[in-house]
Amino acid sequence: PPQQEQKQEFIFRSKLPDIEIPTHLPLHSYCFQNLSQFNNRPCLINGDTGETLTYSDVHLTVRKIAAGLNTLGIQQGDVIMIVLRNSPQFALTFLGASFRGAVITTANPFYTSSELAKQATATKSKLIITQSVYLNKINDFAKLIDIKIVCIDSSPEEDENVVDFSVLTNADENELPEVKINPNDVVALPFSSGTSGLPKGVMLTHENLVTTISQLVDGENPHQYTNYEDVLLCVLPMFHIYALNSILLCGIRSGAAVLIVEKFEITKVLELIEKYKVTVASFVPPIVLALVKSGESMRYDLSSIRVMITGAAPMGMELEQAVKDRLPRTVLGQGYGMTEAGPLSISLAFAKEPFKTKPGACGTVVRNAEMKIVDTETGASLPRNKAGEICIRGTKVMKGYLNDPEATKRTIDKEGWLQTGDIGLIDDDDELFIVDRLKELIKYKGYQVAPAELEALLIAHPNISDAAVVPLKDEAAGEVPVAFVVRSNGSKISEDEIKQYISQQVVFYKRINRVYFTETIPKAASGKILRKELTARLNEGLVVA
Ligand code: AMP
Repeated sequence: PPQQEQKQEFIFRSKLPDIEIPTHLPLHSYCFQNLSQFNNRPCLINGDTGETLTYSDVHLTVRKIAAGLNTLGIQQGDVIMIVLRNSPQFALTFLGASFRGAVITTANPFYTSSELAKQATATKSKLIITQSVYLNKINDFAKLIDIKIVCIDSSPEEDENVVDFSVLTNADENELPEVKINPNDVVALPFSSGTSGLPKGVMLTHENLVTTISQLVDGENPHQYTNYEDVLLCVLPMFHIYALNSILLCGIRSGAAVLIVEKFEITKVLELIEKYKVTVASFVPPIVLALVKSGESMRYDLSSIRVMITGAAPMGMELEQAVKDRLPRTVLGQGYGMTEAGPLSISLAFAKEPFKTKPGACGTVVRNAEMKIVDTETGASLPRNKAGEICIRGTKVMKGYLNDPEATKRTIDKEGWLQTGDIGLIDDDDELFIVDRLKELIKYKGYQVAPAELEALLIAHPNISDAAVVPLKDEAAGEVPVAFVVRSNGSKISEDEIKQYISQQVVFYKRINRVYFTETIPKAASGKILRKELTARLNEGLVVA
């Protein structure tokens, strides 16, 4: 009989040995496991007010919050939605909810009322934690679907649906019922559109997050990403898993101080870096660009920054060089991650020679995980130096998409490989280079814009018969969404009318930048939009607005 050909698999792992990861611990117990060593050290610093909470303050407050959530009727497994700007209360509520055994869905506080309502409904949220500036847009839908609200600052007295934050923080921590948490229980539910379609709830379990934090900060590693002497700058939005996991939770696990800043304002951030001697600065490329381009940065002492990390979107080589010129002693590295992959998968800290990755590289795969590069036509795994779809496997990978087994099946195969929808290659030194994006996703300054979401809104307009949304390269944002639109018969709807119609319904970065009218939207026989064809039209200048 003919010999069956043995399929060769090319699987890449870290050169560092695997470590024992305490995945049996719930996320909060794991984060506070070494608490006794850090008790009186600063844990959360409010960059806007200077207020500092020590590790023991934080540990006590999160247990109070957990007990308070219980008195508000929150049961184990219930979903709580956080709609907050970056603040210590964000961190406290997140950890308090974990202590209660609840699930936290994080939303962009700038979302419109309808975007928030969609997420609250999809997740069956029982409670929303927010601040007074957002009360109006939340009340628009919260009363209709019977969701309680906790407001972290002053709340209008006459509104009985709104509870003051003190109800949580003044609760008796001894009243917290015993909660038995399984490693496979979901703790975080951020939203991501993944490789296609609408934004979906990403079910991240206690085990997923413990794994991903541990990969970055635990074990024998001479080039630890962070340790208790560090001051981590947290100016990226905490509702996104990058800041939530890789800054806040990694920082707390290591006993570091996390400097929380509400929003990116260049002067304020520069002042804070100098004042608090920030050692680890995690950014996205547009922030790095703003920092190095601004003449102002020359007036501040930024020499405390030991490590600068960027991720969430590609960083150009010129920008990398500009940072090296401005901060020659700072180690600059890219990380590569995806919400569904739990989140950071590729990191400079785990390079063969840590902190010496090549320009343009994202580092090497973290330990206790596997990566392969797959031929998108044949599905075969590829050897080094060949580009294909990046796939990741390990206990860091999400449990699945909330209420969407089909999308889960399309994203994680039977063998547990998560298909990222990104195209990359691994070189001779195990370093990963991202070369393209296969999936539909558009990234505006690292924020996700799901074309399918905008297309659904466009098609719902009576004067539009078909539409497709694709990315257009943009110097400041990386990419912006642009729309190809087919008008309904006889309709004269204008570009401005379409833009306005969309901006009323979505957060600012999902706004459509240009509208190109066209006769038809190119589609495959399956009905799938041929997006590459539309992007090619844009790149070749074959479009007229
Ligand atoms: P998110 O789930 O919002 O973190 O988005 C994940 C996606 O962002 C990835 O699948 C990539 O498409 C993109 N991304 C993240 N990090 C990088 C990077 N260093 N270079 C290029 N693209 C990146």
